[in-house]
Amino acid sequence: MFENLTDKLTGIFNRLSSKGRLTEKDIDEALAQVRRSLLEADVNFRVARDFVAKVKERSLGADVLESLSPGQQVVKIVHEELTEILSGGDHRLTPSSQLPSVLMLVGLQGSGKTTTAAKLALQLRRQGHSSILIAADLRRPAAISQLQTLGRQLEVPVYSEEPQSSTVTQVVKNGVERARQQGLTWAIIDTGGRLHIDDELMQELEDVKAVAQPHETLLVVDAMTGQDAVNAAQEFNDRVGLTGLVMTKMDGDARGGAALSVTRVTGVPIKFMGVGERSDGLEAYHPDRLASRILAMGDVLTLIEKAQEAVDEKQAKELERKFRQATFDLEDFLEQIQSVKKMGSLSQIMEMIPGMNNMSRKMPADFDDNQIKRVEAIIRSMTAEERRRPDILNGSRRRRIARGSGTTPQDINRLMNQFKQTQKLMRQFSRTRNPKSLMRMFQ
Ligand code: GDP
Repeated sequence: MFENLTDKLTGIFNRLSSKGRLTEKDIDEALAQVRRSLLEADVNFRVARDFVAKVKERSLGADVLESLSPGQQVVKIVHEELTEILSGGDHRLTPSSQLPSVLMLVGLQGSGKTTTAAKLALQLRRQGHSSILIAADLRRPAAISQLQTLGRQLEVPVYSEEPQSSTVTQVVKNGVERARQQGLTWAIIDTGGRLHIDDELMQELEDVKAVAQPHETLLVVDAMTGQDAVNAAQEFNDRVGLTGLVMTKMDGDARGGAALSVTRVTGVPIKFMGVGERSDGLEAYHPDRLASRILAMGDVLTLIEKAQEAVDEKQAKELERKFRQATFDLEDFLEQIQSVKKMGSLSQIMEMIPGMNNMSRKMPADFDDNQIKRVEAIIRSMTAEERRRPDILNGSRRRRIARGSGTTPQDINRLMNQFKQTQKLMRQFSRTRNPKSLMRMFQ
């Protein structure tokens, strides 16, 4: 996410911060570089120009230039102004007072509507809400079955009708009615898309909107399409009226310009970000946290939320008890690694840890999967006694386990070191309950 931009901005600000005192010329030069980096990341030129002008005006104040750490003051201003650009409107979903709340997803073909519908259903369920997915894309034959498959996987009901003998408005009307009868909290409508915006599509969406009376109309846009995403947002908003945006494929090597410009240009707030193909690859949007991530300051709050989602309360309590009684064993260790994996890929997790942004790029994409499989094979090759009391693992036992799991004794040694390290850190964590120790677990 924003890799190039983050690299450039951190480079510029590191140089600035390394200077003791700053002159107006230093700030001018740095901001000219910032402006160039924003334009290279495909940020709308007016947005980039206004941003730089605002940062400059604030940075030239005497309280900045004469402070002890002017470079850091400038970074603070940049963070605040970046947050400002990314903000605007309400970033949360607004449910209706009557059941069900209706959420309509619109967007071009391939932007990620169907995937996002399923992701939203999963996220809402994690927050204690029930929902139904309504398959209202009758033109693309695979769309209905794609939604049905996702619904089955997530155990979320899907409402659909035979495309030949129904119409889009009929499906939507009946689907919302089904949600009402079943007392569900949300009805999520997956509408049809096109490769390009055309009149027929817009007309169809206006008709659906008239029937469904949605509380939320979210445009799903592909961050990788850059300024085209901003133009699409403008057109959809003019014609259909939007309450928010879902910016998908933020995990790709998108230059990020769309996310940075879209709210400024259109006035429509981003509500979610798609960060992966899997159904749990959806993040709530927080402007200040995103600004921190862009400036490589990490995003500890999102990290902690992910950890809470991945490890349920009961599991966490049980682990804490085991630490206190020092009975944390290799079975628990394996479970723990699997929970971390549920939070996303290791490189995504590392992006959120302050100062770790650079490391995340050095990891090969399959690092986590292979690593976890190897650990699993090793632990499965141990006897119950060995898993409970890893300290009995002498040389001959280690050789036997290596043979059984298709690994080497060095792999076993490495795993034992990681295990001991984790035991130590977790013991500290359970004692201090300090989020900083949680962060150290991943380092
Ligand atoms: P639709 O035509 O708008 O319904 O688009 P789909 O939901 O079928 O998605 C199109 C493609 O984009 C699929 O291959 C999805 O897996 C992929 N996709 C959707 N959202 C994301 C995301 O946030 N990240 C990544 N990497 N891929 C995504």
